[in-house]
Amino acid sequence: MSTRIGVAGLEVDTRHFIGGERSTSGTSTFEVTSPIDESALGAIAAGDERDVDQAVRAARAAFPRWADLGPEGRGKILERFAQAILDHKEALSAVETADNGSLLIANLKRIVDRAAHNIAFFARFARELRHEPIRGHEVDNHVRHEPAGVAGLITPWNAPLMLSTWKLGPALAAGNTVVLKPPEWAPLSCSLLAEIAAGAGVPPGVLNVVQGSGVEAGQALIDHPGVDRLSFTGSIATGCTVAAAAAAHVTPVSLELGGKSPFIVFGDADLDAAAATVAAQFNNAGQVCLAGTRILVDATVEADFRAKVLAAAQPYVVGDPRQRGVRVGPLIHRRQLERVAGFVERARAAGATPLLGGAAHPLGGLYYQPTILSGVAQDAEIVQNEVFGPVLTWQSFGSEAEAIALANGTAYGLAAIVYTRDAERAGRVAGRLVAGTVWVNCFFVRDLEAPFGGARKSGVGREGGIHSFDFFCDVKNVAVRRGSFDRAAENG
Ligand code: NAD
Repeated sequence: MSTRIGVAGLEVDTRHFIGGERSTSGTSTFEVTSPIDESALGAIAAGDERDVDQAVRAARAAFPRWADLGPEGRGKILERFAQAILDHKEALSAVETADNGSLLIANLKRIVDRAAHNIAFFARFARELRHEPIRGHEVDNHVRHEPAGVAGLITPWNAPLMLSTWKLGPALAAGNTVVLKPPEWAPLSCSLLAEIAAGAGVPPGVLNVVQGSGVEAGQALIDHPGVDRLSFTGSIATGCTVAAAAAAHVTPVSLELGGKSPFIVFGDADLDAAAATVAAQFNNAGQVCLAGTRILVDATVEADFRAKVLAAAQPYVVGDPRQRGVRVGPLIHRRQLERVAGFVERARAAGATPLLGGAAHPLGGLYYQPTILSGVAQDAEIVQNEVFGPVLTWQSFGSEAEAIALANGTAYGLAAIVYTRDAERAGRVAGRLVAGTVWVNCFFVRDLEAPFGGARKSGVGREGGIHSFDFFCDVKNVAVRRGSFDRAAENG
């Protein structure tokens, strides 16, 4: 196995990053391909139980010193890490685009900045975290957030850089050391990230990366008894496996899973703004867990709104994600293309009508047309299951109650989007929707201090701000009998 491969004019190391060094215990590898043209990028070390064990041991060994640095000491290092991410913006963007097909312009303009912010925000949050003593009848309760130990982090391919830093930021700032298992379909930006962290002064063993398949490297990580927290983002099916493994060791687990979010447009809404936001659901080729993929529109404005949505979708040009003007890149992998195409074919066979698209793009490869399907029943597969591609469904409603019933009528509960000019209605509807996040007249705004997570099968737990620290820490109460030290001082 070559230890370096050329990607987008850059060299990326193919080995794991354990204890501050590149290493691999076995010889097995997996091929990484670029979704842009399905070309081979190279063979990457495929981690196994031994690599994971080595990484957990390295993380355990590094833990006491990292924890002892305290929020101030860690904060200084993490701020340098955040700055180093920005300093490597072009490399990270180019590698992420080659590896997962996301738009280069989006990586350059937003995603890398956000990745750096994910680290810097939580570094600051840890420094500023204060607890007022809780005055009880006999005691003062001093609440402390103590780092838990070694955190196992597992991320999916749709946004590896963004989602990995979203977990790394709070885990590291809280004083944990980590083992990160990046997605096998797009592992390369995390390989770079580990080196960038080390270059910025993150000590050896604090951030370890083990690449490999979910069933081997991922499974070894979730089964490892030396892991104190498991934070997972991915599909519901894998989430169940992670939860079961965590249960075996009573390991606290955070699950951020799939979505099938409703996008409700009331008759009084700003239809132009709503239409623009509907079209934005095609960003990242629709491979976005939070996407509002079920359009629910007030029947009284349906025809008008349909025309606006179709106009707003026009600029969503499909093509090479490195090219300016392109707004929809490829799907990640041939298996994903087949999955998306299968959903649409079955929906059409069951009577759905495309208002837009409805098939693979004439460009071929892994490119799929932005698609909107009408004539779908609430219990149809396409309405009930996450497609994870540029495919939206279209339904209309006759009343607020019907809109809420349709919106809540799946097993998911990640997010919901509501467009209306009526503030009272917005509050009322938001209260009745089953969702971890409800966006009113906006979409995809995620402040890191706000809670984030899914209801129902979309996840377990909340992260963001104090919720992240509650998860990544052992929250300890030190109850001190009031006056006991004063008396000791008097006596002594
Ligand atoms: P996936 O569940 O197949 O894989 C996610 C990660 O889990 C990968 O790193 C994979 O290698 C690993 N994995 C697979 N099997 C494993 C096992 N047995 N043990 C441990 N790890 C294992 O998901 P995916 O297809 O990569 O990602 C798409 C899914 O992720 C979609 O359902 C999407 O909605 C969801 N997602 C959710 C959020 C969120 O914040 N809620 C964000 C992005 C994506």
